[in-house]
Amino acid sequence: MFELPRLSYEYDALEPYIDEQTMRLHHTKHHAIYIQKLNEALLGKEEFLSMDIDELVSSIDKVPSEIAAKVRNHGGGHANHSLFWTVMTGKKGSMPTGKTEKAITDVFSDFTNFKNQFKAVAANIFGSGWAWLIVNPSAWGGKLEIISTPNQDSPLMEGKTPVLGLDVWEHAYYLKYQNRRLEYIEAWWNIVNWSEVERRFEETIT
Ligand code: MN
Repeated sequence: MFELPRLSYEYDALEPYIDEQTMRLHHTKHHAIYIQKLNEALLGKEEFLSMDIDELVSSIDKVPSEIAAKVRNHGGGHANHSLFWTVMTGKKGSMPTGKTEKAITDVFSDFTNFKNQFKAVAANIFGSGWAWLIVNPSAWGGKLEIISTPNQDSPLMEGKTPVLGLDVWEHAYYLKYQNRRLEYIEAWWNIVNWSEVERRFEETIT
């Protein structure tokens, strides 16, 4: 059985960039319901229920076809949100350092250029989806790339490892920002948890 992970901060910790009510609903309703529906879809299928969520979405091709769509949507939702909570922090103003900063600079020239490319990808997602910084293991040296996925698809379903992700479903921002997705995307950089992104990046490249 999959369970809702606890947040390492309070619901109001990301104020004013993400408001308390949005965080509370997003975690206790949206994320919790993905988990509930995932568990329902996998009822009696111990070999999948006992997996780690990232392992499950990475193995989406092994899931029986009659439940594959549900596992894609709800399992992807669980994996994506589990990452999302960890790559944000109430300790504002951090920046990438070390190997992560070097890898970003190598690929995107500088941090501002990286941010602009990421923002453009997030802004241009049509409908609901996610923007990601991923490590593509099939590229030489495990290269960083910015991609988007529709709905609740996870980069893990394409064999790519996400190290940073931004939820651009309207439920992630509509209470505070209404239709102004760009303002939400811009505000979000203030609360990115770069030490967690670095941890994930270094784990992926070693
Ligand atoms: Mn969401």
